Amino acid sequence: MNSTQQNSFDTLVVGGGIAGLQSALDLADQGYKVAVIEKDASIGGKMIRLSKVFPTLDCASCITTPKMASAAHHDNITLFTRCNLNSLNSIEIKGSSSNNSQGKISTSSGSQDKTAPSSGCHGKGSSGVTASITQMPRYVDADKCIGCRKCEYVCPVYRPDPEQGGFSATKAISIPFSNAIPQLAVLEPEYCMLCGQCEKVCPTQAIDYFQKPETFTLSAKTAIIATGFEMTPLKNKVQYGCGEIPNVIDALQMERLLAPHGPFNRVLRPWDGMEPDSIAYIQCAGSRDKSMGVSYCSRVCCMYAIKQAMLLAGALPLADVTIYYMDIRAFGKGYEQFYQNAKAMGIEFIKGKVARIDGGDNGSAIVRFENQQDGTITENTHDLVVLSLGMTPGWNPNGICPVSTAEDRFITSIQPKMSPVLTTMEGVFVTGAAAGPKDIVDTITESGSAAMEAARYMTAKGQMANATSNGAAA
Ligand SMILES: Cc1cc2nc3c(=O)[nH]c(=O)nc-3n(C[C@H](O)[C@H](O)[C@H](O)COP(=O)(O)OP(=O)(O)OC[C@H]3O[C@@H](n4cnc5c(N)ncnc54)[C@H](O)[C@@H]3O)c2cc1C
Ligand code: SF4
Ligand code: SF4
Repeated sequence: MNSTQQNSFDTLVVGGGIAGLQSALDLADQGYKVAVIEKDASIGGKMIRLSKVFPTLDCASCITTPKMASAAHHDNITLFTRCNLNSLNSIEIKGSSSNNSQGKISTSSGSQDKTAPSSGCHGKGSSGVTASITQMPRYVDADKCIGCRKCEYVCPVYRPDPEQGGFSATKAISIPFSNAIPQLAVLEPEYCMLCGQCEKVCPTQAIDYFQKPETFTLSAKTAIIATGFEMTPLKNKVQYGCGEIPNVIDALQMERLLAPHGPFNRVLRPWDGMEPDSIAYIQCAGSRDKSMGVSYCSRVCCMYAIKQAMLLAGALPLADVTIYYMDIRAFGKGYEQFYQNAKAMGIEFIKGKVARIDGGDNGSAIVRFENQQDGTITENTHDLVVLSLGMTPGWNPNGICPVSTAEDRFITSIQPKMSPVLTTMEGVFVTGAAAGPKDIVDTITESGSAAMEAARYMTAKGQMANATSNGAAA
């Protein structure tokens, strides 16, 4: 953390995906001071990595980048990227009764015993949260780097680019992607051979090979958990090849193949560069599947598969696209029409759970399934297979934060119907995919709600503090 940065805020938002950014902006626009803590080198979450979004088919990058930029340039928002959350606990603030005063804070749960500057406006006995955070090294001085990429151009080491599904290469030092925020280079030490070329070429002497992790504390009156999701891991699904079959990819990788700035600028098979003539989607691959530890429906997979199939129909007009499904759950406004449009475009929908996938000749993949329309067991061969993987929680609070999780491991809401953003911790709210699988529309709505509940909580606490001090004075 920069020594000039403040460390007490009205709200800590954990997670800088679309959920966290929306809550942060909604609060910051009302005058609240917000810290956004993001573990990645850039904010934007999964949405900035998508191609287009259902049901409108807007370009994901075009609608996410302005939100990221607004958050980055907002006077009331401070971004902490590449930061790991070590702990998030409730605190009791003793004896502070005015804004920006320094109060003694004692943690009410968790193992750490901390003293830190407080946000200080709750008055006597009021509560808040404190977070211990570790800034992971970039090996680049964030105050000096101007994002010119000279280091990236000169670096001789190539590595697989995680931002492009691993399909293309980037350098050992690079800016994560073209519209990353902040535009700061990051050096990945496991690939760097310490040749010193980046240091020589950097015009601002920003390279720092000796940077160390730095731990610091932030405190706030409220927190919003917006830690999002990860894709269901494939490693346990032997029937689907555990991720080892050539040309069997996941849907986030397909998002990159379809994206305007994707790895190949067109849709090609990753293993041999062939243009696929036949593409299959396997639905519920990692949802409604107890063998993968996920018994729930991930809600968005049917819709993103239909979206990708429509985009493929545009990108590869001669290709056949088949979607193998158990049920199509087109649950949102306009979604059923979107599904009907896909059928009208010639996308084939086959009702049947895929039992296994095997590698075939020339990089093809063989899909074996029970066709539920005629009861036959059938094998079809496809050039490229996309697994519509489900959503699992992006963060496990165990040992970090005493907030409760449900059986599905997403954060529990104590009022799932009337106020789904309330968690088991007072003053701590949840939004987006951190609370359960969700599309962008529901994420945005819920994030507004989390911001509103946090603001309401702060107002109520402020009034209580005033009432207490008035009572004491009388
Ligand atoms: C393949 C695919 C395609 C999709 N297409 C669409 C679509 O077309 N339309 C649509 O409506 N929805 C779509 N979705 C769903 C959409 O991606 C989600 O609704 C949305 O990303 C949820 O946003 P979020 O901010 O809650 O989570 P995320 O996007 O996962 O963001 C969470 C952020 O929190 C950060 N984080 C996690 N843990 C921590 C921690 N401990 N400390 C700090 N930071 C942390 C993460 O790094 C990340 O930046 C798609 C999903 C997938 C998988
Ligand atoms: S580290 Fe130096 S060379 Fe690399 S982007 Fe930053 S300023 Fe440019
Ligand atoms: S020192 Fe490392 S990061 Fe810098 S140019 Fe050499 S290999 Fe690349």
